[in-house]
Order: sequence, then C-alpha cells, then structure tokens
Amino acid sequence: MTFTAHILTLYPDMFPGPLEHSLSGKALDNEQWRIQLYPLRDYATDKHRSVDDTPAGGGAGMVLRADVLGRALDDVTAKAPQATRFLLSPRGTPLTQPHVRQMVHETDIIFVCGRFEGVDQRVIDTYDLQELSIGDYILSGGEIATLVVLDAIVRLLPGVMGNDQSGEQESFENGLVEHPHYTRPQIWKAQSIPDILLSGHHEKISQWRLAQSEQLTQQRRPDLWHKYSKKP
Ligand code: SAH
Repeated sequence: MTFTAHILTLYPDMFPGPLEHSLSGKALDNEQWRIQLYPLRDYATDKHRSVDDTPAGGGAGMVLRADVLGRALDDVTAKAPQATRFLLSPRGTPLTQPHVRQMVHETDIIFVCGRFEGVDQRVIDTYDLQELSIGDYILSGGEIATLVVLDAIVRLLPGVMGNDQSGEQESFENGLVEHPHYTRPQIWKAQSIPDILLSGHHEKISQWRLAQSEQLTQQRRPDLWHKYSKKP
C-alpha cells in the first residue's frame, strides 16, 4: 500500500515544497508515497471564507475555528478512517526516531497544521488529535513541522533509500549520536584520516566507531547517555 499523507493546511502551496527534491521527490514521482491536501479555506462557509477568530477570554492573536477545522476533519476521516490524526503543536510529544520508525508502518497519516495561536481545544478533543512537536521552539505554522516529519518518514519507506543499511546506522537508531565520517582525499590541509579506518579491519573499525559514538553522546547529549548507560 502506498503511504499517503493527508494534510490539512491554510497553505497548500507549501507542499511538497522541499520534498519535491532528491530521494523523497523521486519516491513521490514513483508513487511510493502520496500527498493529499485539504485546503482549510475550502471548508469556510461565510462570504469572507474566514477560518480564524479571536480567542475566547481575550488575549493576543487568533485561533483556528472549530467548525471550519471540524468540517475538514470530517472529510479526511471519511476518506481515511483508520488514519492516525496528528496535530503539529509545540506542546505535543517530541518526535524521536523510534516514533518515526513506528509511523513508517502506517498507510495513512493525517497532519493538521496549526496557524496563529493554535486551534480550538474542542477539535483536539473531539477528533482525538495526537499533538506532535518537532522541538522546543515556536514556528509560525505546522506546515514546516509536517515537512520535517514527512522527510523523516519517507526516507525510511521500503525502497526509497538506496542503501537500506544506511538507515540503521544513523544517530539515535541505537540510542547514541553517530561517529565521525571521513572520505578522500586521504590527507587534507595536513590532516590525515584516522589510521584505523584505512586498516581494512572491519571489527576494529566497528569498535572504534562505537567508542566514538559513545564519547560524543556522553559529551553532547547527557540525556541520551543517561538512558543508554542504564540499559541492561
Ligand atoms: N500559541 C502556541 C504556538 C502557536 S504557533 C503555543 O504557545 O504553544 C502556530 C502553529 O505552528 C501551531 O499551532 C503548530 O501547528 C505550529 N508549531 C509551532 N511550533 C511548533 C513545533 N515546535 N512543533 C510542531 N508544530 C509547531
């Protein structure tokens, strides 16, 4: 089954955007995945096609209306009833590589892109939207966050990445950040490649890489190191 991303957005022209290029673009051309857009303005009913309104209780900014978003969600849910429904949101569960690995097994995923201050809470509750964050900072909308999540998913779809193994050796796959890489020229600006990498001794190379990964993780990501070093 082809993986389909159902995207609810005020800015449909932002898709596929950067995903049109490189491996994800090729995979899109080959129909290894699909994007289905649900432009939110199409679900507005008043003559101004308004999608947002002022927050109840006052305060800055605007909020996406429950009725407009609700109609869009009714539409997408009818088309993809089994799909997981995500709302991109800075207060959501932070996206991690194990999470991405799970998403790859789904055939349809719905992405609701927030804008302004966010969306009416009743929509989140009624449609059981799972809030998903791409990091502890604020973007101006959920579109770029959706592109980030999709990029992470699509590269793991079967047949998309040339060398299937390379997906398994990346940072986070084993709870560590990755070791350093080197390539030609062998000597560059008076610096040579570490001897071990030129030794042809695969087991020693693996050990060296693991040691480097562990050292970097310990230095840069004490949070990950803590989990890793506690593993049985
Ligand atoms: N008022 C909100 C931020 C709204 S930003 C708050 O303080 O939590 C507008 C929209 O951008 C959000 O509805 C969400 O869809 C998207 N967005 C912003 N930052 C994001 C992040 N870190 N991860 C995922 N989506 C984000």
